[in-house]
Amino acid sequence: MMGDMKNIKDITEQELGALRVITFDIDGVIIPTGTQLQENADGTELHMKSKQLSRQFVENLKELKKHLKLNFSSGRNILYLKSLVNEIFDEDIFLQAENGNISWFEGKLTHSSHSADYFQKLKIIRERIKGMIAGGDKRIRGFEPKMFILTSHSDQMEDIPNLVQEVDPEGELYCLWTNEGYDIGSKSMSKGKGIKKLARHLGINPKEIMTTGNNYNDAEMLKVGTGVTVEPVRVEAQYFIEHQPDELGGELLAEFLLDYYRKRA
Ligand SMILES: [Mg+2]
Repeated sequence: MMGDMKNIKDITEQELGALRVITFDIDGVIIPTGTQLQENADGTELHMKSKQLSRQFVENLKELKKHLKLNFSSGRNILYLKSLVNEIFDEDIFLQAENGNISWFEGKLTHSSHSADYFQKLKIIRERIKGMIAGGDKRIRGFEPKMFILTSHSDQMEDIPNLVQEVDPEGELYCLWTNEGYDIGSKSMSKGKGIKKLARHLGINPKEIMTTGNNYNDAEMLKVGTGVTVEPVRVEAQYFIEHQPDELGGELLAEFLLDYYRKRA
């Protein structure tokens, strides 16, 4: 399949001209991966450490938003997203948190709805993982505060996907490795469905939304929008962007788009 992907440099002016929105995934795309989390066994203490957007990228976003609406879609929670982009936050900035489950559009917060049975499953999984932590399993570091999905921080370990399968034999849940743990949530919602929701809200075609991503939870939104993968070996899209290990694909994409708009002006 990799052969079907095109280098972003080969995108046509017509396709670029049709874009209305750029959606940035966060971790590994516009900030380096490596968020650290540590929670104590009874959940009364939580320590989280993550990185910031680079100064240059924030300046580039300020320029880019003259041409495109900016959307940020992440597995992280809405408070984190809001604080990450607070400097540029206004009515043309859209936020989608918890893998499409929560959307902030023009001052209005909306969310997907799920059955009591779904939340019960998440509760059981959480309790079982807490039991593993209490039992001294040092591979698991705790949970990120979230409303609609469950995110455990841990090493990559089969125990967690196996547990999800055991609690959810119906297969209603996904359990996706995120490089720092697992996102566990309902298959009825995804970042891809979030992009469709944004397209409906703006009255545009989802393909007029460029999407970015580097991981399994980005696969659907890369398909729904005009996708640009920064990690083509892991997740595919119509386009890929090349970058060195110490470069962020999302930052390079912002530069690429700015180049196009500056030349056009
Ligand atoms: Mg990602």
